[in-house]
Amino acid sequence: MYETSRDALRERALVLDAADRLADKRKLFALDEGVYLDGNSLGALPLHVPARVQDVLTRQWGELRIRSWDESGWWTAPERIGDRIAPLVGAAAGQIVVSDSTSVNVFKAVVAAGRLAGEGRDEILVDATTFPTDGYIAASAARLTGHRIVPLAPADVPAALGPRTAAVLLNHVDYRAGRLHDLPGLTAAVHAAGAVVVWDLCHSAGALPVGLDEHRVDLAVGCTYKYLNGGPGSPAYLYVAERHQAAFDSPLPGWNSHAEPFAMTPEYTPAEGSVRGRVGTPDIVSMLALEAALDVWDGVAVEDVRAKSLALTDFFLECVEAYAPAGRVTSLTPVTHAERGSQVALRCAGAEPVMRRLIERGVVGDLRRTDVLRFGFTPLYTGFADAERAAAVLAEVLAGTPEA
Ligand SMILES: *Cc1c(COP(=O)(O)O)cnc(C)c1O
Repeated sequence: MYETSRDALRERALVLDAADRLADKRKLFALDEGVYLDGNSLGALPLHVPARVQDVLTRQWGELRIRSWDESGWWTAPERIGDRIAPLVGAAAGQIVVSDSTSVNVFKAVVAAGRLAGEGRDEILVDATTFPTDGYIAASAARLTGHRIVPLAPADVPAALGPRTAAVLLNHVDYRAGRLHDLPGLTAAVHAAGAVVVWDLCHSAGALPVGLDEHRVDLAVGCTYKYLNGGPGSPAYLYVAERHQAAFDSPLPGWNSHAEPFAMTPEYTPAEGSVRGRVGTPDIVSMLALEAALDVWDGVAVEDVRAKSLALTDFFLECVEAYAPAGRVTSLTPVTHAERGSQVALRCAGAEPVMRRLIERGVVGDLRRTDVLRFGFTPLYTGFADAERAAAVLAEVLAGTPEA
């Protein structure tokens, strides 16, 4: 029974992989014979990146030294690389700057959103199911600016909006269950209430279309080391819609965001455009590793990435259903495509030893305490045979691991 269903699903995987338009991209990445399903935490290394970083170190820094700020394009890297990310999130050029960590950009965006919203609006609505850092930062930002934090589920946002709402901080995709929230609908609702929305794109950029300009998002932040494969700790980005740039009032007005940074004046005059989101000297080595890593997106349509991501997660869920011992795992992943990100989350009693054994056998996902097995699907380098194999190994591990 199991053998026949396994043969049939393996066969399907081969057919799907053969028809995959993104299949060629896989060879651009450093992967081993295992199945890497943690690209939603740390994307895999594109193979050409080390040589590019070597050049940054030995030639640009080692030989050109200070001249590289100009001659190697270091000074303008944050905006240049922001423009490379822009098409992946549906933004026209000139609105994204690469800078700092996501946490720091959440701070800039939440404070700036409160300032854009103006007088008399004293509430900041925050996704209560968010990745913790966003909530911590928003709470501290609110303490500084005198706003009140209202934690709530994204679905409850429309009912909570009102004349007191200044800003709303939301995740596009929930990091735990992988639920995709309704960015167009929620953005429109926030605007109808006269408030400003900040979207966190950490789990959506590089995995699915975002449409920042199309949906008139105000501000957005995101990291680059997950689906964008920028490397550990690669700098994050901040999107400020063009219509808000002139009024964007950063709470961290460093010299890098000054209109004339080298004038070294005591008065702060903010630069025009996305430069205004910068703070201090950028982390050039990491930034240029990210720039090189973005080459893998050349010729890729985000719609193809999305189609493959949904097909992969559907197929993985089907294989898990067919192979896993009955009742051992329950999917938290939304069945509806419109509500699904690019990961599968499985609730599993005693998840910790299960994930440990999976990793020992080369199937790398991660654990969200206490009982969630999380598997990220990165369409550029994960195939259908990988998904089938991961499900088969999971079933074997479950069969050999007593229920907790
Ligand atoms: C990964 C992630 C972060 C990470 O923030 P850092 O400042 O880069 O550590 C923040 N928010 C969300 C929603 C994330 O998924």
